[in-house]
Amino acid sequence: MRSTMMDFPLQIARILEHGSTVHGRAEVVTWTGDQSRRMSYTEVGAQAARLAHALRDDLGVTGDDRVATFMWNNAEHLVAYFAVPSMGAVLHTLNIRLFPDQVAYVANHAEDKVVLVDSTLLPLLANVLPQMSTVRHVVVVGGADPQPLVAAAPNVAVHAWDDLLRDKPERYDWPEVDERDAAALCYTSGTTGHPKGVAYSHRSIWLHSMQICAAEAFGLGPTSRVLTIVPMFHAMAWGLPYAAFMSGASLIMPDRFLQAQPIAAMIAAERPTLGGAVPTIWTDLLSYLDKNEVDTSSLKEVIVGGSACPPALMHAFSERHGIEIIHAWGMTEMSPLGSVSRPPAGVTGDEAWAYRYTQGRIPAPVAARIVAPDGSVAPADGRTVGELEVRGPWVTARYLGEDEPDPEKFHDGWLRTGDVGTLSPDGYLTLTDRAKDVIKSGGEWISSVELENALMAHPAVLEACVVGVPDERWGERPLAAVVLREGSSAKPEELRDFLAGKLARWQLPERWVFIDAVPKTSVGKFDKKAVRARHAAGALDVTTVNYP
Ligand code: AMP
Repeated sequence: MRSTMMDFPLQIARILEHGSTVHGRAEVVTWTGDQSRRMSYTEVGAQAARLAHALRDDLGVTGDDRVATFMWNNAEHLVAYFAVPSMGAVLHTLNIRLFPDQVAYVANHAEDKVVLVDSTLLPLLANVLPQMSTVRHVVVVGGADPQPLVAAAPNVAVHAWDDLLRDKPERYDWPEVDERDAAALCYTSGTTGHPKGVAYSHRSIWLHSMQICAAEAFGLGPTSRVLTIVPMFHAMAWGLPYAAFMSGASLIMPDRFLQAQPIAAMIAAERPTLGGAVPTIWTDLLSYLDKNEVDTSSLKEVIVGGSACPPALMHAFSERHGIEIIHAWGMTEMSPLGSVSRPPAGVTGDEAWAYRYTQGRIPAPVAARIVAPDGSVAPADGRTVGELEVRGPWVTARYLGEDEPDPEKFHDGWLRTGDVGTLSPDGYLTLTDRAKDVIKSGGEWISSVELENALMAHPAVLEACVVGVPDERWGERPLAAVVLREGSSAKPEELRDFLAGKLARWQLPERWVFIDAVPKTSVGKFDKKAVRARHAAGALDVTTVNYP
């Protein structure tokens, strides 16, 4: 029997209309350095209509033309997040931290026609604009002198956001689009090869946003104030902007002020209830909060994902600052939400902590399985380790521009995540490593993440990055690259002894190096490839500690 339900398309425009009317008093707050500027969701709706008119009438954006952003997290970026897909065009969030060649590559690959740029990023864009062969218009947000852009690319028309939007109507007759059409485009931040494009549909964004709002995920509602530190150019800021408009949650945007001191000032001034960022942001903030008196009383939970969250960080925030870290896992290829770690009801104490360390539960719409190296599907027994594969309505089926799914990344209709771990019978995912970061020592695997987490529990250690390096006898052995806290000291022998009680002896690193900072990728993750390259080039002063 066919259902009797209406065939009602899920469109981004609907989220915009809902948020800007039903939740019209909610606000997006943009930090400007020492204070905030505010825009209500009603105003965001009006600005989105104005931008859509400008894009269509003045810049000739039609059909599925790509409109790129080269922007920080701020109110105007939010306006673009809604205006571009709502008018039927495709939003492409350019990662401002990619190497210039990669920025140009993705802009050309996506065939971007327009770029919206923050004036503070104008010099960076001017650097790559001449290589962007399909861009016809640049719109500058803020009052910078556009001359560097004009000089860099004389054939590109440069416009000022305020001038363009000034006299435009505050309403737009949003067209009906097919919910399966692309709404937004994001490229992976992979450190090998060219970034790959993932095109989210109106439908996938809708379903994903509903899941983000759910209590078992981020639990957003009209009283939430979300400090959105995760960049809007990385995996759609974890879907927070759309979910906020759906649920009436307000957004607090840090713009370019991402250091611990301004983040702390934002927390005190704007009283967020929830935050979202990669572990390194929270590691820096923790050091700051430990040394400075800051009112963080509004902040109840922070979502930490993008890399494994060290348990020591979770305990420190909870026990010293009353802030609970909620561990989450995801990928650009899955919109990005994959799992969120909230313990089952009724579980308390150490058992609850053990659940919180995991990457969490996979939500109902997403199917997940563990595949053993021989290709067989492993049982979800919490013990059998293999590669995680997923599929679902917000998981990509292939990369943009590829006719067929790449067998390296897709298998039998499933996305191969490249993450290695276990699934428990009650659905909790525990990742032990990225497949390419697992250290293969003799016939055994050593989890680099497990070593890092154990090291980061040492009071003198701020950050620790562990990579596999070639070893004549074992094939590969771990190298621990350690950043000590300011004013702290520790010898490799002491750190090794600290690990000895927690891990098997054969897993303990012999090779140690102290570094000033762990190199980070464009989205703030440990750049293990860079650490391996530095080691291979002999650029690290490695101490070898032999075991008695
Ligand atoms: P990206 O597409 O840049 O968001 O990167 C996705 C990858 O980040 C995943 O495949 C994981 O390897 C890693 N990742 C994200 N969240 C976590 C997490 N909570 N724990 C461990 N790895 C994570």
